[in-house]
Amino acid sequence: MPTMDSQRAPVQLAASVMRVLILGGTSEASALAQLLAGDRRFEATLSLAGRTTSPRTQPIATRVGGFGGADGLARHIEEQVVEAMIDATHPYADQMSANAVAASRRTGVPLASLVRAPWQAEQGDDWNDVPSTEAAASALGTTKRRVFLTVGRQELHVFAAAPQHRYVARLIEAPQQADLPPDLVLLRQRGPFDLEAERRLLGDEKIDVMVSKNSGGSATYPKIEAARQLGLPVIMIARPDKPAGHVVASPTEAMAWLVHHASPRSRRGV
Ligand code: NAP
Repeated sequence: MPTMDSQRAPVQLAASVMRVLILGGTSEASALAQLLAGDRRFEATLSLAGRTTSPRTQPIATRVGGFGGADGLARHIEEQVVEAMIDATHPYADQMSANAVAASRRTGVPLASLVRAPWQAEQGDDWNDVPSTEAAASALGTTKRRVFLTVGRQELHVFAAAPQHRYVARLIEAPQQADLPPDLVLLRQRGPFDLEAERRLLGDEKIDVMVSKNSGGSATYPKIEAARQLGLPVIMIARPDKPAGHVVASPTEAMAWLVHHASPRSRRGV
């Protein structure tokens, strides 16, 4: 993955300005960027993995692409004089979070992790919780079903192991893998989607079962509500164990942590 860096080179910052690195890719990361933009106490950069070729425009500096593991991230922190880091990656992006924890320990730069609460099954939900995407593919069973796949494009190939089903997958961009399931319809759409649209889609495509990650949050929840209303089962892939720093639950809490618990190097005596 080529790295694109729109961040400025290290400069002599005013003693009271704190350099913040946000590890992003979520709506919470964008909301935090919005809170930090124009706040003269901070100079923030948003880092994106580069999974989409046309990410949403951001109000702060962005950089795109991997750092090169925990070592690369620690190097980046030192070179760019990062003073506080917020991990606002997706609940399933556990590698990036492990690297953030390791780099924070190595450099002494404080880390807060924005953790989105998972969805909880409600009355009327018919969830089958499975530990992995591979387990989700086998939980579909041997009889042909019409499956709505909402797992992102990186793991679509896993369903090639269950080629007997008809799949409808919704993605922002086309998948790059060659080994996809044979009976696959791709819907290239970017959310949010409302409840009515989700009900219509599930009905029009005659979906029997949905496969989902437990992303939490409100942006993609209407598909879960639609499944409940239509009495459809959901195969729910469990979250990975994500290493974390100081846990915060919202962009506002992350902002409060930055103000009260992190401090510019000048004040830390670094
Ligand atoms: P990951 O497995 O945790 O990360 C893999 C590598 O991608 C990291 O080691 C890092 O490379 C790079 N990376 C990830 N996030 C980054 C960021 N914000 N800035 C710079 N580099 C970053 O995460 P993933 O591969 O992106 O996704 C894992 C799961 O999360 C998938 O199931 C995916 O569907 C889901 N997900 C991810 C995103 C997203 O925006 N990333 C959004 C929605 C869903 P280096 O080691 O080289 O630094």
